[in-house]
Amino acid sequence: MKNIIFLAPPAAGKGTLSEMLVNKYGYGHISTGDLLREEIKNQTEIGKQAEDLMKQGKFVSDDVIIELISNRITKPDCENGYILDGFPRTLVQAEKYDELLKELGKDLGVVIYINIDKEMAMKRACSRITCPKCGKIYNKYSNEMKPKVEGICDDCGVELTQRSDDSEETFIKRFDEYVNKTMPLFDYYKNKGVLKTIEAHESKYDTFNDAVEILEK
Ligand code: AMP
Repeated sequence: MKNIIFLAPPAAGKGTLSEMLVNKYGYGHISTGDLLREEIKNQTEIGKQAEDLMKQGKFVSDDVIIELISNRITKPDCENGYILDGFPRTLVQAEKYDELLKELGKDLGVVIYINIDKEMAMKRACSRITCPKCGKIYNKYSNEMKPKVEGICDDCGVELTQRSDDSEETFIKRFDEYVNKTMPLFDYYKNKGVLKTIEAHESKYDTFNDAVEILEK
């Protein structure tokens, strides 16, 4: 299995698509956002550093992120392939990741860019709710993404919550960070010949089918 990097603005559907691909192919799933939220929950040093930055919609330092990634990609569930959901987000991270792959003798794989316009991404972010226990993502305004019982996780039965950085104000800051710091990675990976583009369709199944087509070509 080819490793996958998702390159996309906030709320483009990286998490949902990752979950669907993990279920189909058995990839290891690495979400740097989830790793950081876990650090915050456990009140670690990294968590303390990250919390304020995340609340403000700013990026966490490259060194912290690289440390989290290098610990995570060597875990057994990543041996046969993994999805990077939210990493790399800066050129420094991409370059350091290339060095890390070289050291570990691993392949970069494929980079999938998910195209979505700002209005649609904002609408999705502001109506997104997640399960604090299993991390499953729901959306109040999408028929196929709604929980069966309003406000409750289908799998865990616990109350769904909104991420503190999914407000309109913080979303705009996160989107700006993405345009300024992450968008340059589009050319970085295009020049390496590993970049593929898909659209963030209204239906998650259409987006999933486009991703599967790329992976099975
Ligand atoms: P996400 O769950 O991917 O939307 O990430 C939530 C937040 O975590 C981002 O807005 C950043 O503050 C932080 N974050 C996640 N991944 C990274 C990364 N690769 N580099 C810097 N900050 C990150």
